[in-house]
Amino acid sequence: MTKLQETDKKYIANTYARFPIDIVSGKGSVLKDDSGKEYIDMGSGIGVTIFGIADDKWKDAVIEQLGKVQHTSNLYYTDPCVRLAELLCEKSGMKKVFYGNSGAEANECAIKAARKYAAEKKGEEYNTIITLKNSFHGRTLTTLAATGQEHYHELFQPLTPGFVYAEPNDIESVRKLAHENKTAGILIECIQGEGGVNVMDKAFVQGIAKLCQEEDIIFMVDEVQTGNGRTGKMYAYMNYDVMPDVVSTAKGVGGGLPLGACLLGEKVKDVFKPGDHGSTFGGNPVSCAGAVSIIERIDDKLLEDVKRKSEYIFNELQGAAGVESVAGIGLMIGIKTVKPAGEVVNKCIEKGVLCLTAKDKVRLLPALNIPDGLLAKAVEIIKEACR
Ligand SMILES: *Cc1c(COP(=O)(O)O)cnc(C)c1O
Repeated sequence: MTKLQETDKKYIANTYARFPIDIVSGKGSVLKDDSGKEYIDMGSGIGVTIFGIADDKWKDAVIEQLGKVQHTSNLYYTDPCVRLAELLCEKSGMKKVFYGNSGAEANECAIKAARKYAAEKKGEEYNTIITLKNSFHGRTLTTLAATGQEHYHELFQPLTPGFVYAEPNDIESVRKLAHENKTAGILIECIQGEGGVNVMDKAFVQGIAKLCQEEDIIFMVDEVQTGNGRTGKMYAYMNYDVMPDVVSTAKGVGGGLPLGACLLGEKVKDVFKPGDHGSTFGGNPVSCAGAVSIIERIDDKLLEDVKRKSEYIFNELQGAAGVESVAGIGLMIGIKTVKPAGEVVNKCIEKGVLCLTAKDKVRLLPALNIPDGLLAKAVEIIKEACR
């Protein structure tokens, strides 16, 4: 164990099972450890650094804003904050934005929006939020309640009440819960990320959208992991030809600085009044200036490139020795391997590739602009590790 690792163990809460790598620097899709060993980054900090490490355009935007003003509080107007909101609305079809600092906060806002809308429209007893089993929506006590995985709930009771869990890809299960409960909203991931890269069926997502529209239930899509170009569309719901009432996003949106956004559609755009919600750091001008430089570059050309790289990975891995199946959309990919996923990931580390896991799968979330040469090299090493 290195000195850094020893000191980390002594002073940092024991909530993470870290890999024994001390990262010191990087550029693009390459990370370097304290011994100078280089790694191809196939995880991008769990889908955060979507244009890679120390990306020049992002860095320039951040540094420029740092030199102007780093924080103002939400008592005043700032240009990056407004410009980003305009961009996010243009690209999503949503109407207004609330900023937080994380995915969990973006989902908290979504849940508050659905509950307030329903309380005003139908009555305060309409407060149930339906989510899916095996989902992941965050670690705060409310987003933990939204997370449909019991093992995360243990020993943290009581969680925020009012959450029920439907079976993924089973519209009857959603419909049943929506009628058994006085329902305010339905919150789903189109692809369950932490749950193991499980892609929802088109008919299922469309069924939820229709149910929500018919019964005036707020349809919320958690795009914290799937958003910002990850699936070859700006947001994953765009693969399903549906229009949510609320979209939450974080991870990739800031390109590496903390930022979360809850995008409010037509129905709920004016549900909040001054004082209903807030966040001291939300919409931080430095994070937002960086985010503008990221979101501006997610255009059709980049999205086509994401799809092309995705096809390449699928073609290489499907049917490869030691690979049982490959799931996902775009550059969000889960590989079911014959060997335990952890073993494959450790083998990859040895050979200089950083991958993630999700449940029993090896998960890939590379930067959207990973160069073809590095991608090919990483895929070769992953294939070797699977054998
Ligand atoms: C990561 C994630 C979250 C939580 O985001 P934080 O920034 O860690 O709070 C919520 N939902 C999904 C789908 C995620 O992948």
